[in-house]
Amino acid sequence: MTSRKPLGRYRRIVIKIGSALLVDRKAGLKKAWLDAMCTDISSLKAKGIDVLVVSSGAIALGRSVLDLPSGALKLEESQAAAAVGQIALARAWSESLSHGDIVAGQILLTLGDTEERRRYLNARATINQLLKIGAVPIINENDTVATSEIRYGDNDRLAARVATMTGADLLVLLSDIDGLYTAPPHLDPKATFLETISEITPEIEAMAGGAASELSRGGMRTKIDAGKIATTSGCAMIIASGKTDSPLSAIENGARSSWFAPSGTPVTARKTWIAGQLQPAGELRVDDGAVTALGAGKSLLPAGVRGVSGLFSRGDTVAIVGPEGREIARGLVSYDAEDARRIAGRKSAEIEAILGYPGRAAMVHRDDMVMTAQIRQKSERQKKDAAHA
Ligand code: GLU
Repeated sequence: MTSRKPLGRYRRIVIKIGSALLVDRKAGLKKAWLDAMCTDISSLKAKGIDVLVVSSGAIALGRSVLDLPSGALKLEESQAAAAVGQIALARAWSESLSHGDIVAGQILLTLGDTEERRRYLNARATINQLLKIGAVPIINENDTVATSEIRYGDNDRLAARVATMTGADLLVLLSDIDGLYTAPPHLDPKATFLETISEITPEIEAMAGGAASELSRGGMRTKIDAGKIATTSGCAMIIASGKTDSPLSAIENGARSSWFAPSGTPVTARKTWIAGQLQPAGELRVDDGAVTALGAGKSLLPAGVRGVSGLFSRGDTVAIVGPEGREIARGLVSYDAEDARRIAGRKSAEIEAILGYPGRAAMVHRDDMVMTAQIRQKSERQKKDAAHA
């Protein structure tokens, strides 16, 4: 057991449900579990909390309906399985939620829907409208059309993206893992459980192994990635086991779970979008002086840039990495890659002479940048939040 974590203090909660919780390979959909989950959702909604569900299980359910043999599926087989399974999955959610007089709305997203700003705003408007009318959005990746280059592939990061997109203040990841351990507990008997994570440091990242089962794509790695996306945008995250019935009530009653504190710095909607980009178009490697300057809230000047990689255009999102290779920020770059290379390491006053036009003084302006790693002192609020968990 860990401490009780009341969910009633949140305003908008995204719940991610792993395939293995909803689907049994032989028996198919776990209806009793789903019904109990929908009862938990009804009681959250009765408290005025908006609830969004990111439900995996399309491929697993399609596999079970089609009676496909175990083992890896070819891309077109898993896409066909998802097509069959997604209908059954959406119907099951819709029926089960209707017992509590709740309407469900299905949203299928692809990576492009969240990476491209116009499509992102469109998807966000639809989800917000569903919430406004009191419906519960049931969200999944559109697996039938997503191919490996253009897919999330795991619903942990998709759920984090949905959380930041909708301004949720809590993301709950339910799977067969009850939280974060210092090492994979089945491999290391000395592994200890971490109940509160106030900041996702490189040490925390190193604790996430690569574990994933046949039914679920995400392991601890993608959960920590999800945590980075969510907490950077001010959204807390809980990792808990969904193996018992009514796991949300269980979390409230003190079932073991890990709580990740939101970052203390509120960010604008545009910065939220920048922070959640999964595929930056390039990378700027910066020196120690620039790391300190960014930590103090300054823009990134060409003088601090030591290396430029990738084929990006002006306005694309790039990752900004420190001398030791750790990503510290993301932002919209003011120059095409070729020009960025030419002015890297040079003074802003020299830009016009080098490029032949008066470009922007900053390579990435601070208004277009969001820190992905905490390189400032932790704010008092963060410490307080961590103490409350
Ligand atoms: N979108 C996949 C499905 O519904 C699941 C991805 C995951 O397990 O994270 O089958």
